[in-house]
Amino acid sequence: MSNSTKYIFVTGGVTSSLGKGIISASLAKLLQARGYEVTIQKLDPYINIDPGTLNPYEHGECFVTDDGAETDLDLGHYERFLNVPTSQANNVTTGRIYQAVIEKERRGEFLGKTVQVIPHITDEIKERIQILGKKGEYDIVITEIGGTVGDIESLPYIEAVRQMMWEFENDCIVVHLTLIPFLSAAGELKTKPTQHSVKQLLELGVQPDVLCCRTEHELDLTLRKKIAKFCNVSVNAVIESLDAETIYDVPILMQEEGLDKVVLEKLSLPNKTRPKLENWKKFLDTLKHPKKEVNIALVGKYVELKDSYKSIAESFIHAGVANECQVNLKWIHSEKISSHNVAKELEEMDGILVAPGFGSRGISGKIEAVCFARENKIPFLGICLGMQCAVIEFARNVLNLQDAHTTEIDPESASPVISMMEEQKNVANLGGTMRLGAYKCKLKPGSKVAQAYNTELISERHRHRFEFNNEFLKKFEAKGMVATGINPDTGLVEVVEIPKHPWFVGAQYHPEYKSTVAKPHPLFVSFVEATISNTKKKKSKK
Ligand code: GLN
Repeated sequence: MSNSTKYIFVTGGVTSSLGKGIISASLAKLLQARGYEVTIQKLDPYINIDPGTLNPYEHGECFVTDDGAETDLDLGHYERFLNVPTSQANNVTTGRIYQAVIEKERRGEFLGKTVQVIPHITDEIKERIQILGKKGEYDIVITEIGGTVGDIESLPYIEAVRQMMWEFENDCIVVHLTLIPFLSAAGELKTKPTQHSVKQLLELGVQPDVLCCRTEHELDLTLRKKIAKFCNVSVNAVIESLDAETIYDVPILMQEEGLDKVVLEKLSLPNKTRPKLENWKKFLDTLKHPKKEVNIALVGKYVELKDSYKSIAESFIHAGVANECQVNLKWIHSEKISSHNVAKELEEMDGILVAPGFGSRGISGKIEAVCFARENKIPFLGICLGMQCAVIEFARNVLNLQDAHTTEIDPESASPVISMMEEQKNVANLGGTMRLGAYKCKLKPGSKVAQAYNTELISERHRHRFEFNNEFLKKFEAKGMVATGINPDTGLVEVVEIPKHPWFVGAQYHPEYKSTVAKPHPLFVSFVEATISNTKKKKSKK
């Protein structure tokens, strides 16, 4: 059977958290830099339809695509590395697979047959893998299989891989990511867990073509030969993956190890061209040699788990590089902020970001943080719930509407300055029902946002149910908080600013989902720039 698209499956063995997402993104980057059109897909073995209803403590941030899919945070890495948008097709869960198969069964599409894991579930998985390939846009589709080989939940995925390896013999390879632990008592690197995880794959009928070995120490030739012999791979297909200083080093480290070369060789694709990585290397060089630094507070309620704000943290890395500046993020728990300690917590900060979120936990700390930023003229960026807190704070402390609130938290508020959107009022299900994905927004000429984006019409991604209540807009504008971004189709307020403040912006959308290495997000770039001016001002005052 011939097939023009090539498929690379990335599996993981020995333990979770080896960084399959970063290895997949790095390999994709190297192939893209050689001129191939590449996309990456993540298959998640859990039963949730999508991570939208998951608490961030479970799997970290929920990443949102332009088409409004709530997806795994690895898709964020894919976009940040490749600078190519992903979509719903790039993230599939077991829940979604079963839902589709059960719906087909209810429609009678299986013509009376018994519906089984093999072939029905595996066929659905294979179809989902090939959706991207069949689009005709990509030379190579990388499919990352979530979980660890040997898990019960990932068995149908490995079986689907086995079948595809058989059906598309010359167009599929498997890259298996494993761990080579160092036993300090023995003073040795140990290959046995890797041997066993490859055996486990073999039991399931899959022979990996390339092994990526996570290790804290270099692998010498003898060890590589040993791994190659026990695992039936060529020595040049044993790739060392040492712990890296930053995730952005990984493509370069993988190139030095020849990962892209061996992958192309196994896929019978030409590998003569040199990858064009000049811009990537320039980014890394600036990242490692910043000329200045700023301290920015990230106020949120999931700060113990930094993955919950992954895209925001990465956006600051990109925006820092654009400003040749190191951004030190100080993670502050919003539940720990009160009117008594807010000054102590935030006075050293050059900028303050109030994070997105849901529910009432930590909201008063977020409102305190906004107040501190507004009154002390510290550059401020509020994202989604952070923007809503900025509106509530302004209503309470400037408009004197003491009971102002969002109806998410106080449905009875007499001053519902943030209220539920009309289309949300009759929604019963929680999953996939928010205002999700890309919407247009028109920026007010001369505003901070218009300056930052240097254009008037933008498109940004959303994930929320509540919105600025336009009945209050006149009152806000009269007192100095202005709507500077409006959805041209619905009139919804998407950005608020305080023009008299050095830099105070609240965005209802999530700019962090669109920041990439190649295109740092203009709003973050401009915010970091404002914090740099703030440090200069502070220094000249001293
Ligand atoms: N909870 C708020 C809403 O639903 C904000 C959501 C968010 O910050 N992503 O509107």
